[in-house]
Amino acid sequence: MTDIKSMNLCELTEYITSNGFERFRAKQILTWIKHDAESFDDMKNLPLKLRDFLKNDAYLAGAEIINAQHSRIDDTVKYLYRLYDGEYVEGVLMSYHHGRTVCISTQVGCKMGCTFCATGKSGFSRSLTASEMISQIRSAELDCGERISNVVLMGMGEPFDNYDNVIRFLKLVSSEDSLNIGMRHITVSTCGIVPRIYDFADLELQCGLSISLHAPDDTSRSRTMPINRRYQVKELIKAAKYYVDKTNRRITFEYALIDGKNDTDEVAYALSELLKGILCHVNLIPVNNVTGAGYKKSSLKRQQAFVDILSANGINATVRRTLGSDIDASCGQLKRKFMKGDA
Ligand code: SAH
Ligand code: SF4
Repeated sequence: MTDIKSMNLCELTEYITSNGFERFRAKQILTWIKHDAESFDDMKNLPLKLRDFLKNDAYLAGAEIINAQHSRIDDTVKYLYRLYDGEYVEGVLMSYHHGRTVCISTQVGCKMGCTFCATGKSGFSRSLTASEMISQIRSAELDCGERISNVVLMGMGEPFDNYDNVIRFLKLVSSEDSLNIGMRHITVSTCGIVPRIYDFADLELQCGLSISLHAPDDTSRSRTMPINRRYQVKELIKAAKYYVDKTNRRITFEYALIDGKNDTDEVAYALSELLKGILCHVNLIPVNNVTGAGYKKSSLKRQQAFVDILSANGINATVRRTLGSDIDASCGQLKRKFMKGDA
């Protein structure tokens, strides 16, 4: 079956004409998709023959919200989405004074197995298509009744383990035929799949890149992030520098502060040394609670001491405010609570 919602105008035109239909029908179909048509029968200005063909050959992928949990402490909403084949992913809607941000999933589960992350503990089923990523945004928009201004690919899954679909998504979602969300308003986060960082840099997109670092040395990084055994810190930092040079964009490093593990003064000095001279920002996240992970947040005093050392050494760093903690909607807390066929 053909996933026509993942196609751009050019591809859709090729698909339609090669099956014997007029080229202008492609634009009509895209307009229907943009107006949230749920079935090919909704596409009233298409001839019956084309609708029948599409019904047999294509599908309209979606991400249907089947549950929305609202935080009582802030405006965060956690969504449970159902995909066309009965798989589930989670996403989070966050409200800031500058607009609405949605955090979307790129895979059902994740193969990377980071020890502090609930997604990593819940196994892997499949990667998402571009249309399923777009649908998560559009469904959130329809649910909250407002335009989504920013998107982060920080939900379930490792975006660079689903590289082609993620790039397709970025190009599509930022086009006028789709949601028209500018690349500058989108951030991709990776655990550090080095070859894909180079590929991404070479595309010179205006999209933000965030690297989940969490430790400045190989011994402790490999302990929590298995990907580090494949691509070590030195290689990762080299790739990060390449990205900055190539795009002239500031890169973000995510760093979860774990009590007694990676939050000492000594580690803060090592991190400062590692990042010296790189156009970057360090996002410090007091580690979120994940059942079975056994990690504790660093104390407020430790968080401050850590940030102070980075700042004193010229590294731009802030401690990120935790949103949606009462509904397990914070970083690393999304997981496959429902398995295919559950609901
Ligand atoms: N797979 C990608 C993106 C999804 S994870 C990545 O790893 O970058 C989104 C972010 O949440 C990453 O920075 C990840 O390291 C972080 N994270 C995962 N578990 C966490 C936890 N328990 N506390 C704080 N941050 C966590
Ligand atoms: Fe996967 Fe990112 Fe979680 Fe690691 S932190 S297991 S890469 S989702």
